[in-house]
Amino acid sequence: MIKSVVLKFANYVGESGLYRSLCPGRVPVFMLHRVSDTGEVRLPGGMTADVLRSHLDYLATHGYQVLSMADLQAMLERDKPLPSKSVMFTIDDGFFDHHDVAARVFEEFGFVLNFFVITGFLDRDLWPWDDHVAYALHRAGPKKADIRLPSGVNYLVDLLKDGIGDTVFELRSRLKKESQSHLYNWLKVELYPSLDVEFPAEIPPEFKPMSWSNARALRDSGHGVFPHTCSHRILSALTIEEKRSEIEGSIKRIEAELNYVPEVFAYPTGRLTDYDRLDIEQLDKSGIQMAFTTVPEYVQAGQNWYELPRFSLPCSSDDFRQIVNGFEAFKMKLRELAKFPH
Ligand SMILES: [Zn+2]
Repeated sequence: MIKSVVLKFANYVGESGLYRSLCPGRVPVFMLHRVSDTGEVRLPGGMTADVLRSHLDYLATHGYQVLSMADLQAMLERDKPLPSKSVMFTIDDGFFDHHDVAARVFEEFGFVLNFFVITGFLDRDLWPWDDHVAYALHRAGPKKADIRLPSGVNYLVDLLKDGIGDTVFELRSRLKKESQSHLYNWLKVELYPSLDVEFPAEIPPEFKPMSWSNARALRDSGHGVFPHTCSHRILSALTIEEKRSEIEGSIKRIEAELNYVPEVFAYPTGRLTDYDRLDIEQLDKSGIQMAFTTVPEYVQAGQNWYELPRFSLPCSSDDFRQIVNGFEAFKMKLRELAKFPH
């Protein structure tokens, strides 16, 4: 309660531009998840179109510039402090609602959205492994199950003790540390049978992708469409040959379907441990110039172009405003100063 009053006051002060003038040259790049056009959020981590609209309305009425990918690249190339009152938006994976709902809301304001798509998902060869994990756990017959991880180690699922949300998070985290070479086969032969859930013959309606013609329409309307691997497997958990095939394969599919050569990429799940130096080398070899992580920080001049950070787009308007008005940057700076006293 106190915290929310303080934050409201800090955001009120933030409208004057005070924090941006104290911490200049920082551009927040946001990452959206699922966007629902009904009043309720159907999937965890999602947002309603109305909440998204209110965030964009705030930017429009307060004179913020929403950058395209080309704008951001041009600004980084100049190697001068970035203009402070700018933000950029991205959305990962390529679900149907990204085209049907999110893009429509951005277009109401004339704003650009940047899509990172899993090309094997748009090809309908697969749907993301991390969503399979959630799907299967939500439908589990037994509440307790012993699952053999790809490494052969046993993993005990106990839904009564840990609850569904924590179990989904924990099992996904464990799988990110395992070899992911045969992950999709593992889902089919191990995860689903252990939980006594039938492997879906088709992609379930809530996990459907957009089509390639949707992706072309997005690019034709001025949005960005870029690769996000072929299968969404964690790059740091793959062999060199698999890394190359995920990176080059997804670039080639974008090139074939959208008739241009992409130079921007986003790492699946994007934490520091989800990609490594070899991935960056492969991106460089494959002609990629900029790559995005999910490390929650601002983009600044002089930054490594292969490790551009992103904030997850918050649902709360106070949390959103403190990132765009720079109060979040100001707090980060105070924390740095406290760590390294002069
Ligand atoms: Zn993703």
